[in-house]
Amino acid sequence: MSGASDDGGSGPATARTFRLYDLRVEIVSVKPGLEAVCNHRLGDCVFVSGENLSIPAGKTFSMYALAAVLPLLPAKQRMSDEHDWINHDEYVACPDPACEALMRITRTGIREFRLEDVSAQGADAIGGAANAHGVSSADHDDDGVDPP
Ligand SMILES: [Zn+2]
Repeated sequence: MSGASDDGGSGPATARTFRLYDLRVEIVSVKPGLEAVCNHRLGDCVFVSGENLSIPAGKTFSMYALAAVLPLLPAKQRMSDEHDWINHDEYVACPDPACEALMRITRTGIREFRLEDVSAQGADAIGGAANAHGVSSADHDDDGVDPP
């Protein structure tokens, strides 16, 4: 008869979690007559979950349009101050000057991640996956690269 709340958990490492928003990037405006410039179609979208992007089966998304939103996605995934502009601005223009399409970045949910699942360095810091990439703080200067 052990504690009722004990699920045989794996210890304090399971508490090393963080949360990120899932995102949807969607084409929300395409100027009539310019649809063919980048092959945008209303509703075309890319989903972001953690570090992964996905596009619905059979759909496409312009890599140039995607390039315009990529720098914003990690910031949009993270919680920040209420009045931080990243919490309020959601539209991004396609970078093709002849296109005029708009994309909207929408937060669609919150997902929790475990540090050790997404970071070899984080895992190393808690004693797992030691030197998985041959790097640790102790031997950082012994990487075979001489400083200038
Ligand atoms: Zn475009």
